[in-house]
Parts: sequence; structure tokens; C-alpha cells
Amino acid sequence: MPSPSEHPLLAAARTELAGGAAAGGLNIAEAAVDRHVNEGRGDRVALRWLGKRGDVVDLRYRDLAALANQFGNALRSLGVGAGDRVFALTGRVPELYQTVLGTLKNRSVLCPLFAAFGPEPIRTRLEKGQGRVLVTTDALYRKKILPIRAALPALEHVISIDLPEDRDGALSFHRLVDRQATSFVGGQTKPDDPALLHFTSGTTGSPKGAVHVHEAVVVHHATARYALGLEPADVFWCTADPGWVTGTSYGIVAPLTCGVTSIVDEAEFEAERWYENLEKQRVSVFYTAPTAIRMLMRAGADLARGRDLSRLRFVASVGEPLNPDAVTWGEQAFGMPIRDNWWQTETGGIMIANVPGMTVRPGSMGKPLPWVEAGIVRRGAHGLEEIREPDVEGELALRPGWPSMFRAYLNEPARYEKCFEAGWYLTGDLAKRDADGYYWFVGRADDVIKTAGHLIGPFEVESTLLSHPAVVEAAVIGKPDPLALNIVKAFVVPRPGYAATDALRDELIGFARKKLGPAVAPREIAFVESVPKTRSGKVMRRLLRARELGLEEGDTSTLEGGPE
Ligand code: ATP
Ligand code: MG
Repeated sequence: MPSPSEHPLLAAARTELAGGAAAGGLNIAEAAVDRHVNEGRGDRVALRWLGKRGDVVDLRYRDLAALANQFGNALRSLGVGAGDRVFALTGRVPELYQTVLGTLKNRSVLCPLFAAFGPEPIRTRLEKGQGRVLVTTDALYRKKILPIRAALPALEHVISIDLPEDRDGALSFHRLVDRQATSFVGGQTKPDDPALLHFTSGTTGSPKGAVHVHEAVVVHHATARYALGLEPADVFWCTADPGWVTGTSYGIVAPLTCGVTSIVDEAEFEAERWYENLEKQRVSVFYTAPTAIRMLMRAGADLARGRDLSRLRFVASVGEPLNPDAVTWGEQAFGMPIRDNWWQTETGGIMIANVPGMTVRPGSMGKPLPWVEAGIVRRGAHGLEEIREPDVEGELALRPGWPSMFRAYLNEPARYEKCFEAGWYLTGDLAKRDADGYYWFVGRADDVIKTAGHLIGPFEVESTLLSHPAVVEAAVIGKPDPLALNIVKAFVVPRPGYAATDALRDELIGFARKKLGPAVAPREIAFVESVPKTRSGKVMRRLLRARELGLEEGDTSTLEGGPE
């Protein structure tokens, strides 16, 4: 099979995006913004920003191009150039989008950080990434950066969005940026120039810094078109925060390359507000995450009923497995199933998806996109072997070579090398493929439970528990056991109105046994108020395991959130 990059759909995306750029050049910001201006679409609304307090700001493609150019020029005036790392640590405000696009324009490398991180996760990332510039707010600067700044000698410039004057070692964003020229004359960006540094969520261990290049935009664009079905007339809402790879790739870059209007909501999750956004903003394509969907489910589908959601035609989810009940709940709330898709920070874009028009099998993450060659592999007597029979579990592997493939784990070449074997990229996730080519997520390789001769994927057990009306969240781990190696233990958050009683515990165990059989059903259930999650909303089973072993203190050092 030829390299994924040569697939006709990617080749077409590349040609479309490069329109206007000098031959051989490709820059994410130019492809996302300038191209539309150059081709006469500058007056379309690129971003509709919904402020926490009800204010609304529309930024047209033309405005965004000028703002990005000003930020690029500001970086240049500071002597910050190609390859230098610019970190962003702010909530979802217009200046963040300006920073991201201006940094890319200047061929500097953008590294987004989640604004709710505490000083320690910020320090480790800035240090590892050798950030020269940090764009943040005054409050975040005082609370989280000043205390650690002395430990960050590479950090030359802090630019504060809401600082009226330069002060206390920080530059005023608007003083610096607003006086810059609105056109940008830069050198040519090569497709292989580094563009983005994304830290993984840290669900299974310490976060890795995945390096991506400008040509990743080819995949951002092609997947937005093919896997999410974006058309230029769409209003798109991706609820992920730009502090994470989904929020940058699909919250900023991909929709812009398609010329759509993207909704940016500064506020945090609130069920009523979300339905109001979907209705009022006439959202047509909605991309969110299982945790958010389960929170909407908890709030009840009734909230959706009085709303006119007739514009909505596609709802997708990513980031964690989407339990079958959540898929079908989409029918009640939105009149359509929720379409799961799979990818990871390393792949830079969607790889496996329930694309528009495809029959959804609830619980399946869909099929590989046309340019993706996926396989299920296992380690056998002769090294890595591909499993070709259907419905057999193994590690999900991909043939490398697509444009948004990560090019390195920052400063960790050995960890990077370990991801590749026998011509495959190994994802670290376990999955199976059915006879019709649908892929089914089983669990992360690190989370799989080995018990008395069986291998159990936590997702299947969690999905079963979630299908019981008394359960709103569930996380399943293997608890070490002298006889069975491990026993299946579930942590369950009961739905409001259900008491955490022994009777409910017995009922859930009985329910799971009937559906899963006694070997797979949980032997123990603990009721909890919440399950531990990374800042990006992923269940941290390793933390539950550590707690079970009494290792909680030692293990939390790699926690995403860290101390605030
Ligand atoms: P780390 O690599 O640091 O442990 P992480 O893997 O959670 O963190 P991300 O790259 O943000 O970091 O997440 C990608 C992972 O999320 C995938 O490898 C997979 O385990 C999980 N995931 C993403 N989408 C899906 C999905 N649709 N179904 C099941 N799991 C998913
Ligand atoms: Mg990972």
C-alpha cells in the first residue's frame, strides 16, 4: 500500500490548502485563514465568541487574518522566530485564537496549556518545552507563573492579555500587539517545519510532548470534511478546550480550513446553556466528549425537548469510549445517534470514525478513514503478528506515514522509537475488528484486567454498568487477588435519587452477571461521589489501582491537575 500521504483524498486536500501559497510551501495559519481572504471569503464569520457574561464577538476571516498577522509581527519584534516555542495559558478568549494563529504564521511552535493547570504541571511543561514566550492573563500570571518564574530561565517574555501597561516582568498584550502592522511578510513555511507541541493527557503515565508539523493541516482539513462532514455553510461547535489537542486541531484549525463559522464558548459546561447554544447559534455539527454527553444525560433529555435543534445534523464524540447507551441516547436528545471517533495526540487527527451516512453500531468507534491502514496485532513467537480473524482482541496498530503523524516525543527519543515495530505504529490501545470492518475499543493496554485465565477490557464492564438506570459513571479496574491474580472491581457513581446501599450493590452485581457472565462481572463494587479524571476528562484507572494498593501518595506525582 502506498504511503497514506499519497492517498487521493489527502492529495486533493493538500492541493486545496496550498492554493495561494508559494509552490512547495504550507503553513497552518495561511491554510486556515489567509486562503479564505485571498479567495474572496474574508467577510464570512470565522469565530463567534460567546463571553461568559453574555457578550458576543464575531470575528470574520478578514479580522482573524489581520489579528494573527499583528501577533506574528509582535513576536518578530521581540526577536522570536521560527522554531521558538510560544506557550498559551488562558481561557477561551479571542486573544488565544489570535496567539495560536499568529504564532503559526511566524513559524514559531505553539504549545497550548490548559488554564486550570496548577503551577507544577505548568512548570514541567514549560521547562520540557523550553518555552521562550508565554501568553497568559494577569491573574494566572500572578497566581501560577510568578512563583515559578525564577526556575524557568528560558522563559524570556510573558505577555499578559489583560494587563494595561507592562508591569512586574510581564508585557501588556494589547500595548505590544495592537500597534503592529496588519500584514505579515514572512519566509516560506515548509510542510515539515514544526508547528505544534501537544502534551498528552497523562492518563497512563507522565505526559509526553508530541511534536507536529505544518502539513498536519492536510489531515485536519480532510478529516473535518470526511469524518465530521463539515461544509462551508456549517456552524460548528467543538466543546474541547484548546489546551488539549482536540480543542486546537478541531476547535481552531480544522473548522477554519473548511471556511465554516465556529462557536467558541468561554463558559464552562452547563446543560441549559449548552442546549441554548445549540439552538440559538443554529449549530449544525457538534463535536464533544463522552464525559460531557454523560453529564447531559444526567441532566435529562427533557431539557432538549422545548428546543429547536432542527439545524443540527451531525453529533460526534471523541476522547474516551462512548458507551452504547450514550450513542442511542442521542436519538432522544438530538434525533440522531452520537457518532464516536477515535484518535490520539500522537495521530494528530481522527483516524477511525463513524462517518456521515455510515450505519452506526453502538459501542463501535467506526472504521478507519480511507487513507488509514489499521490493524490488530499481537506479540507472537515470531515478533509482531497481525491478527486477521475477526473479533479477536489485540493492540490497535496503524501504518505510519500520514501527514499529522507526530514526529517526536520531545526529548524522549527512546520512548518514540518504542512506538514503532515491524512497520506499524503501536497505539497502546486494545481493540478488535468485526467481520464487517468496524473497530471496537477494548481498553488501554495498561488498563486491561488479567484475571483467572481471562483478559477483560474495562470498557465492556463499564458500559454494562452504565446501562443500569441507577448508574451515571463507572470505572473498572483489576484489584490484585492472591487466587485469581486480579478480580474485577467497579467504582460507581449512583444517579441522584438512588441511595448507595448494599441492596443496590447486590442488584448491580446481579445485573452485570446476567449480562456479562460471572467471570467478567465485577466481584466488588464501591460507591463513590466521582471517579478520578485527568484535566481533559479521562478516567484515571491507574489512580484507582494505586489507591487500591495504598499507593495513592506516590502515584499522584504524575497527575494532570497537580496542585493548584
Ligand atoms: P497518555 O498518553 O499521556 O496516557 P492519553 O492517551 O489519555 O494520555 P490523549 O492522546 O489525549 O492522551 O488521548 C488519546 C487516548 O484516548 C487514546 O489512545 C484512547 O485510549 C482514548 N480515546 C480517544 N478516543 C477514543 C474513543 N473514541 N474510544 C475509546 N478511547 C478513545
Ligand atoms: Mg496516550
